[in-house]
Amino acid sequence: MPVYDYRCNQCGRRVALFYKTYKDYDEATHTCPNCGSTDLTRLISRVAIARPSRNYENMSSDEMLSVLEGGNPREVGEMMRQLGQDEEGLGDTYKEVTERLLKGESPEKIEQELGPALEADAGGDMGGIGDDL
Ligand SMILES: [Zn+2]
Repeated sequence: MPVYDYRCNQCGRRVALFYKTYKDYDEATHTCPNCGSTDLTRLISRVAIARPSRNYENMSSDEMLSVLEGGNPREVGEMMRQLGQDEEGLGDTYKEVTERLLKGESPEKIEQELGPALEADAGGDMGGIGDDL
């Protein structure tokens, strides 16, 4: 579930707004739950992405988040590729997802086809790389 941090310019409080989907977020009027003001400034979430930005050039975490939200497969793939290139043991699934994103395949389709493998990768002990060749 996407969570967005804001600073309210009316009452000065920091507020977190929750949305079910990014579409909801796009369509919503962001309102301070404390005072009802809509004069909110978005704060950058430090947990927008799990890894620091050192690999993806000088991109800020907010820019990365906007790449993910933008849903452009090639952009997301390129970011994953750069973020993953220094990592050992990411697994074949990660690489396949990256390559397919770079080819422009839709993330939904990839997730559908690779869903079980992705879960196995995430839940495994990181030791089973390359045994599906
Ligand atoms: Zn407020």
